[in-house]
Amino acid sequence: MNNVYYGKLIFELSKEGRCGYSLPENECADYKMQALPANLMRAEAPALPEVDELTVVRHYTNMSNNNFGVDTGFYPLGSCTMKYNPKINEDMAAHPDFTGLHPLQPMGTVDGALEVYYNLQMSLAELAGMSEFTLNPFAGAHGELTGLMIIRSYHMSRGDEKRTKIIVPDSAHGTNPASAAVCGLNVVVVKSRPDGTVDVEDLKPLLDDTIAGMMMTNPNTLGIFEHNIAEIAKLVHEAGGLMYYDGANLNPMLGKVRPGDIGFDVMHINLHKTFSTPHGGGGPGSGPVGVRAGLEQFLPNPRVMKDDMDHFYVENNDKSLGFISGFLGNFAVMMRAYTYILTLGYNNIKNVGPLATLNANYIKESLKDCYELPIGGVCKHEFVFDGLKDKSTGVTTLDVAKRLLDYGFHSPTIYFPLLFHEALMIEPTENESKETLDGFIEVMKTIAREAKEDPEMVKSAPHNTPVRRLDDTQAALHPIVTYRELQAEAL
Ligand SMILES: *Cc1c(COP(=O)(O)O)cnc(C)c1O
Repeated sequence: MNNVYYGKLIFELSKEGRCGYSLPENECADYKMQALPANLMRAEAPALPEVDELTVVRHYTNMSNNNFGVDTGFYPLGSCTMKYNPKINEDMAAHPDFTGLHPLQPMGTVDGALEVYYNLQMSLAELAGMSEFTLNPFAGAHGELTGLMIIRSYHMSRGDEKRTKIIVPDSAHGTNPASAAVCGLNVVVVKSRPDGTVDVEDLKPLLDDTIAGMMMTNPNTLGIFEHNIAEIAKLVHEAGGLMYYDGANLNPMLGKVRPGDIGFDVMHINLHKTFSTPHGGGGPGSGPVGVRAGLEQFLPNPRVMKDDMDHFYVENNDKSLGFISGFLGNFAVMMRAYTYILTLGYNNIKNVGPLATLNANYIKESLKDCYELPIGGVCKHEFVFDGLKDKSTGVTTLDVAKRLLDYGFHSPTIYFPLLFHEALMIEPTENESKETLDGFIEVMKTIAREAKEDPEMVKSAPHNTPVRRLDDTQAALHPIVTYRELQAEAL
């Protein structure tokens, strides 16, 4: 690329004296009150780049073109539900009537925002088969912590203080044991069977009166539906424990199965997965937590309620586990989720889970001759390959992921879950057309062929991207995040 703007920092495009704005003359120049006190004034002008407007526009437009997003191409990142975020969601989230609100505004002036909160909370309760939701938690892991605190509060409120263990399957998302540890619970691992589902025989001896509950994802992290869920829930309940549902990826269930109907007592949902807020780069998110009837009083403060006159208010109660966030959580994420639910409507939302499942199975069946499928059968919204079928080429999952970038596709999730050495986890979501899925399948087959014919070329991919293979470890351990650091690095 011989574009002079390309690959340069804005500082490198700076020319002394160049200017991209013209401000009107300051009419208050000699009005004393507007001058800042001398001790607050800087001694030297800040070292800002000096550039004209067109340079700024080209710089940022070129930079945005280097980015990969759901708006530029297919993003089959397993365990992430990276789905398309319809533009109307952004319009609503950016609506000045909402963005202009201040969290400390008097209650009577924010009825509209509370109504959105309340209606979304009730919609989620309906979709998940729960009694009530809190939208206060900021992320999935934060929701897990909140949910586990609810489970602890429940046992404590009954004077049942010895319940300090939580059962987590070995296939669980890493946040599950982490949240349990933060909540002060001891994690007990239950094994999976060869088909990836929880081993009920391994579970039975773990159940006693020190068990606070069990955390499960269903379908689990391998995209397999836990068919024994009714039996598992019954066993855990008989032992006095509660069932926690990690609904970060509620997508495959949406409109089809409600966690509350299959034995779960407490759960969270990631609005930034199933309900369309994009989450590449880590946030902002929202991890609402739902509870079945009888557990509402333990939800965090404040709770949003509606009175008989259809007015909305917030309430704090003393049985609650307390506050887990400032104010009422990430409102813009709630706006997107609420808009998403309303635009789909009751009838269309019923198709989300089934279509996501159909798309995943279509890709799986089309590629299982070229890629190793350790667990066959019908999957839900996602599935895992264990690298290329032909292991003799030396081409790894990492190489396949890098080569996909050359063809304009985002990589699937790689090397997760940890149950397989060469894991490649694919989740297409319900939004993709058959043409897009076919294009991806074609490219995956091409890469499998290239791996045989020219393995070195695949191993040195990507070849067409703005940057080649990066040193992930150094990038994580020693990120260069300012221009000054970059200059120092160059010296
Ligand atoms: C994404 C995910 C989480 C964690 O959600 P965060 O918002 O990243 O904290 C937890 N469990 C499962 C199954 C997930 O896919």
